[in-house]
Amino acid sequence: MNSAETLLAMDRCPRAAFWGEKWEAPAVHPNEVLRRAVDAGLLTEEEDPGQLAGDMVMTEAAERTLDIEGSQYTCAVHTAALADIVVTHSWKGLGEMSVYQMPMTMTVVLIGQRRDGRHHSPWSKAWLHPRSRTLRIRKRSGEFDGKWIECWRETSDFSRDHWIDHMRQDYVLNDVLFEKEIKMPEQAMLSKIGHLAEKKLKRLADMTEIPDPTPSVCDWPTKCQFNNVCWQFRPEPTERDGFIRITETLVHP
Ligand code: SF4
Repeated sequence: MNSAETLLAMDRCPRAAFWGEKWEAPAVHPNEVLRRAVDAGLLTEEEDPGQLAGDMVMTEAAERTLDIEGSQYTCAVHTAALADIVVTHSWKGLGEMSVYQMPMTMTVVLIGQRRDGRHHSPWSKAWLHPRSRTLRIRKRSGEFDGKWIECWRETSDFSRDHWIDHMRQDYVLNDVLFEKEIKMPEQAMLSKIGHLAEKKLKRLADMTEIPDPTPSVCDWPTKCQFNNVCWQFRPEPTERDGFIRITETLVHP
Protein backbone atom coordinates (compact mmCIF):
# COMPACT_ATOMS: atom_id res chain seq x y z
CA MET A 1 0.00 0.00 0.00
CA ASN A 2 1.21 3.53 -0.66
CA SER A 3 0.71 6.18 2.00
CA ALA A 4 -2.61 7.39 0.61
CA GLU A 5 -3.97 3.82 0.68
CA THR A 6 -2.57 3.27 4.17
CA LEU A 7 -4.27 6.42 5.46
CA LEU A 8 -7.55 5.37 3.90
CA ALA A 9 -7.19 1.94 5.47
CA MET A 10 -6.41 3.53 8.85
CA ASP A 11 -9.60 5.57 8.64
CA ARG A 12 -11.61 2.51 7.75
CA CYS A 13 -10.15 -0.03 10.17
CA PRO A 14 -6.76 0.23 11.93
CA ARG A 15 -6.55 -3.57 12.00
CA ALA A 16 -6.88 -3.78 8.22
CA ALA A 17 -4.16 -1.12 7.88
CA PHE A 18 -1.93 -2.99 10.34
CA TRP A 19 -2.20 -6.29 8.46
CA GLY A 20 -2.21 -4.54 5.09
CA GLU A 21 1.38 -3.41 5.70
CA LYS A 22 2.51 -7.04 5.60
CA TRP A 23 -0.15 -9.09 3.85
CA GLU A 24 -2.25 -9.07 0.73
CA ALA A 25 -5.10 -11.44 -0.05
CA PRO A 26 -4.43 -13.69 -3.04
CA ALA A 27 -7.49 -12.69 -5.03
CA VAL A 28 -7.81 -9.07 -6.16
CA HIS A 29 -11.05 -7.25 -6.87
CA PRO A 30 -11.37 -6.46 -10.61
CA ASN A 31 -11.83 -2.75 -9.86
CA GLU A 32 -8.53 -2.75 -7.98
CA VAL A 33 -6.84 -4.56 -10.89
CA LEU A 34 -8.33 -2.00 -13.25
CA ARG A 35 -7.11 0.88 -11.08
CA ARG A 36 -3.58 -0.50 -10.91
CA ALA A 37 -3.50 -1.17 -14.66
CA VAL A 38 -4.77 2.33 -15.52
CA ASP A 39 -2.20 3.86 -13.14
CA ALA A 40 0.57 1.81 -14.76
CA GLY A 41 -0.66 2.67 -18.26
CA LEU A 42 -0.73 6.38 -17.54
CA LEU A 43 2.75 6.39 -16.10
CA THR A 44 4.50 4.11 -18.57
CA GLU A 45 6.87 5.20 -21.29
CA GLU A 46 5.96 2.18 -23.43
CA GLU A 47 4.85 2.89 -26.96
CA ASP A 48 1.36 1.48 -26.42
CA PRO A 49 0.20 2.31 -22.88
CA GLY A 50 -3.26 0.85 -23.50
CA GLN A 51 -1.78 -2.49 -24.49
CA LEU A 52 0.42 -2.44 -21.40
CA ALA A 53 -2.60 -1.77 -19.17
CA GLY A 54 -4.58 -4.59 -20.79
CA ASP A 55 -1.65 -7.00 -20.50
CA MET A 56 -1.22 -6.08 -16.87
CA VAL A 57 -4.85 -6.99 -16.15
CA MET A 58 -4.37 -10.39 -17.79
CA THR A 59 -1.16 -11.03 -15.85
CA GLU A 60 -2.68 -10.05 -12.50
CA ALA A 61 -5.75 -12.14 -13.22
CA ALA A 62 -3.60 -15.16 -14.07
CA GLU A 63 -1.16 -14.78 -11.20
CA ARG A 64 -3.52 -13.64 -8.46
CA THR A 65 -7.06 -14.54 -9.64
CA LEU A 66 -9.96 -12.09 -9.54
CA ASP A 67 -12.14 -11.70 -6.49
CA ILE A 68 -15.44 -12.45 -8.26
CA GLU A 69 -18.03 -15.12 -8.63
CA GLY A 70 -18.43 -16.34 -12.20
CA SER A 71 -16.03 -16.70 -15.07
CA GLN A 72 -12.50 -15.50 -14.35
CA TYR A 73 -11.69 -15.47 -18.03
CA THR A 74 -14.70 -13.40 -19.11
CA CYS A 75 -14.06 -10.86 -16.39
CA ALA A 76 -10.31 -10.68 -17.10
CA VAL A 77 -10.72 -10.20 -20.86
CA HIS A 78 -13.46 -7.64 -20.29
CA THR A 79 -11.43 -5.69 -17.70
CA ALA A 80 -8.33 -5.80 -19.93
CA ALA A 81 -10.30 -4.31 -22.84
CA LEU A 82 -11.69 -1.63 -20.52
CA ALA A 83 -8.22 -0.74 -19.18
CA ASP A 84 -6.90 -0.60 -22.73
CA ILE A 85 -9.52 1.80 -24.08
CA VAL A 86 -9.60 4.04 -20.99
CA VAL A 87 -5.80 4.39 -20.93
CA THR A 88 -5.55 4.90 -24.68
CA HIS A 89 -8.07 7.72 -24.63
CA SER A 90 -6.79 9.26 -21.43
CA TRP A 91 -3.22 9.11 -22.65
CA LYS A 92 -4.04 10.91 -25.86
CA GLY A 93 -6.17 13.61 -24.34
CA LEU A 94 -4.98 13.92 -20.81
CA GLY A 95 -1.64 12.14 -20.70
CA GLU A 96 0.46 15.03 -19.64
CA MET A 97 -1.95 16.02 -16.93
CA SER A 98 -2.00 12.48 -15.56
CA VAL A 99 1.74 11.96 -15.67
CA TYR A 100 2.52 15.18 -13.92
CA GLN A 101 -0.35 14.68 -11.47
CA MET A 102 -1.55 18.26 -11.70
CA PRO A 103 -2.92 18.81 -8.23
CA MET A 104 -6.02 20.76 -9.11
CA THR A 105 -7.64 18.56 -11.71
CA MET A 106 -9.32 15.28 -11.05
CA THR A 107 -10.18 13.15 -14.08
CA VAL A 108 -13.32 11.10 -13.56
CA VAL A 109 -13.95 8.03 -15.72
CA LEU A 110 -17.35 6.41 -15.23
CA ILE A 111 -16.95 2.73 -16.02
CA GLY A 112 -20.51 1.71 -15.16
CA GLN A 113 -21.98 -0.91 -12.88
CA ARG A 114 -20.44 -4.36 -12.95
CA ARG A 115 -22.90 -7.17 -13.55
CA ASP A 116 -21.92 -10.76 -14.38
CA GLY A 117 -18.27 -9.76 -14.51
CA ARG A 118 -18.80 -6.94 -17.02
CA HIS A 119 -19.06 -3.18 -16.71
CA HIS A 120 -22.08 -1.75 -18.45
CA SER A 121 -20.98 1.57 -19.89
CA PRO A 122 -20.10 3.02 -23.30
CA TRP A 123 -16.44 2.15 -22.68
CA SER A 124 -17.39 -1.51 -22.90
CA LYS A 125 -20.79 -1.96 -24.47
CA ALA A 126 -22.36 -0.84 -27.76
CA TRP A 127 -24.81 -2.01 -30.40
CA LEU A 128 -24.47 -3.23 -33.99
CA HIS A 129 -27.00 -2.72 -36.75
CA PRO A 130 -28.30 -6.20 -37.69
CA ARG A 131 -27.50 -5.78 -41.41
CA SER A 132 -25.04 -2.93 -41.97
CA ARG A 133 -23.04 -3.70 -38.79
CA THR A 134 -22.90 0.02 -38.02
CA LEU A 135 -21.60 0.62 -34.52
CA ARG A 136 -23.80 2.69 -32.29
CA ILE A 137 -22.92 3.58 -28.72
CA ARG A 138 -26.07 5.47 -27.81
CA LYS A 139 -29.58 4.98 -29.03
CA ARG A 140 -30.86 7.46 -31.57
CA SER A 141 -34.57 7.98 -31.99
CA GLY A 142 -36.28 5.06 -33.71
CA GLU A 143 -33.29 2.77 -33.38
CA PHE A 144 -32.54 -0.23 -31.19
CA ASP A 145 -35.82 -1.92 -31.99
CA GLY A 146 -34.69 -5.20 -30.54
CA LYS A 147 -32.90 -6.39 -33.66
CA TRP A 148 -29.72 -4.46 -32.94
CA ILE A 149 -26.99 -6.77 -31.68
CA GLU A 150 -25.25 -6.26 -28.34
CA CYS A 151 -21.54 -5.68 -28.91
CA TRP A 152 -18.81 -5.86 -26.26
CA ARG A 153 -15.50 -4.08 -26.59
CA GLU A 154 -13.44 -7.20 -25.84
CA THR A 155 -15.05 -9.29 -28.57
CA SER A 156 -15.57 -6.64 -31.24
CA ASP A 157 -13.34 -6.25 -34.29
CA PHE A 158 -13.35 -2.46 -34.10
CA SER A 159 -10.15 -0.66 -33.20
CA ARG A 160 -9.93 1.37 -30.01
CA ASP A 161 -9.79 4.58 -32.05
CA HIS A 162 -12.90 3.67 -34.01
CA TRP A 163 -14.77 2.91 -30.79
CA ILE A 164 -13.66 6.17 -29.17
CA ASP A 165 -14.63 8.13 -32.32
CA HIS A 166 -18.09 6.63 -32.07
CA MET A 167 -18.34 7.54 -28.42
CA ARG A 168 -17.60 11.08 -29.49
CA GLN A 169 -20.01 11.01 -32.46
CA ASP A 170 -22.80 9.64 -30.32
CA TYR A 171 -22.14 12.35 -27.71
CA VAL A 172 -21.45 9.99 -24.83
CA LEU A 173 -17.78 10.71 -24.23
CA ASN A 174 -18.49 13.77 -22.11
CA ASP A 175 -20.97 11.80 -20.02
CA VAL A 176 -18.42 9.19 -19.00
CA LEU A 177 -15.21 11.19 -18.90
CA PHE A 178 -14.89 14.58 -17.32
CA GLU A 179 -12.62 16.69 -15.23
CA LYS A 180 -13.26 18.32 -11.94
CA GLU A 181 -11.27 21.24 -10.77
CA ILE A 182 -10.20 20.85 -7.15
CA LYS A 183 -9.41 24.03 -5.31
CA MET A 184 -6.03 23.99 -3.63
CA PRO A 185 -6.52 24.36 0.15
CA GLU A 186 -4.84 27.28 1.90
CA GLN A 187 -1.28 26.77 3.07
CA ALA A 188 -2.32 26.51 6.74
CA MET A 189 -4.82 23.81 5.88
CA LEU A 190 -2.29 21.93 3.75
CA SER A 191 0.17 21.90 6.60
CA LYS A 192 -2.51 20.66 9.03
CA ILE A 193 -3.39 17.82 6.66
CA GLY A 194 0.31 16.96 6.31
CA HIS A 195 0.79 16.80 10.09
CA LEU A 196 -2.32 14.70 10.53
CA ALA A 197 -1.16 12.24 7.86
CA GLU A 198 2.27 12.00 9.46
CA LYS A 199 0.73 11.40 12.89
CA LYS A 200 -1.50 8.62 11.60
CA LEU A 201 1.32 6.89 9.71
CA LYS A 202 3.54 7.09 12.78
CA ARG A 203 0.78 5.64 14.96
CA LEU A 204 0.55 2.71 12.56
CA ALA A 205 4.32 2.24 12.40
CA ASP A 206 4.50 2.18 16.23
CA MET A 207 1.73 -0.40 16.64
CA THR A 208 2.95 -3.63 18.15
CA GLU A 209 -0.39 -5.23 19.00
CA ILE A 210 -3.15 -6.14 16.58
CA PRO A 211 -5.75 -3.33 16.78
CA ASP A 212 -9.35 -4.06 17.74
CA PRO A 213 -11.70 -4.96 14.88
CA THR A 214 -14.12 -2.45 13.37
CA PRO A 215 -17.05 -4.75 12.54
CA SER A 216 -19.25 -2.07 10.97
CA VAL A 217 -16.97 -1.77 7.94
CA CYS A 218 -16.04 -5.42 7.32
CA ASP A 219 -18.42 -5.75 4.38
CA TRP A 220 -19.06 -2.17 3.45
CA PRO A 221 -18.52 -0.37 1.13
CA THR A 222 -16.52 -3.38 -0.13
CA LYS A 223 -15.66 -6.65 1.53
CA CYS A 224 -12.42 -6.34 3.52
CA GLN A 225 -9.64 -8.65 2.32
CA PHE A 226 -9.11 -9.88 5.89
CA ASN A 227 -12.74 -10.82 6.46
CA ASN A 228 -12.06 -14.56 6.75
CA VAL A 229 -9.18 -14.05 9.16
CA CYS A 230 -11.21 -11.90 11.53
CA TRP A 231 -14.43 -13.81 11.44
CA GLN A 232 -12.86 -17.23 11.66
CA PHE A 233 -11.11 -15.77 14.70
CA ARG A 234 -7.60 -16.53 13.49
CA PRO A 235 -4.75 -14.60 15.07
CA GLU A 236 -3.41 -13.18 11.77
CA PRO A 237 -3.17 -13.84 8.00
CA THR A 238 -0.80 -16.63 6.97
CA GLU A 239 0.72 -17.96 3.77
CA ARG A 240 -1.05 -21.25 4.49
CA ASP A 241 -4.36 -19.45 3.91
CA GLY A 242 -3.09 -18.09 0.61
CA PHE A 243 -2.12 -14.62 1.79
CA ILE A 244 0.87 -13.07 0.10
CA ARG A 245 3.57 -11.56 2.29
CA ILE A 246 4.55 -8.09 1.14
CA THR A 247 8.30 -8.06 0.98
CA GLU A 248 9.26 -4.67 -0.40
CA THR A 249 10.17 -1.94 2.06
CA LEU A 250 7.38 0.54 2.30
CA VAL A 251 8.33 4.16 2.06
CA HIS A 252 5.93 6.74 3.33
CA PRO A 253 6.96 10.09 1.90
S1 SF4 B 1 -12.53 -7.85 8.54
FE1 SF4 B 1 -13.35 -6.07 9.57
S2 SF4 B 1 -12.35 -5.98 11.54
FE2 SF4 B 1 -11.18 -7.39 10.27
S3 SF4 B 1 -9.57 -6.14 9.42
FE3 SF4 B 1 -11.24 -6.13 7.97
S4 SF4 B 1 -12.48 -4.36 8.45
FE4 SF4 B 1 -11.13 -4.73 10.19
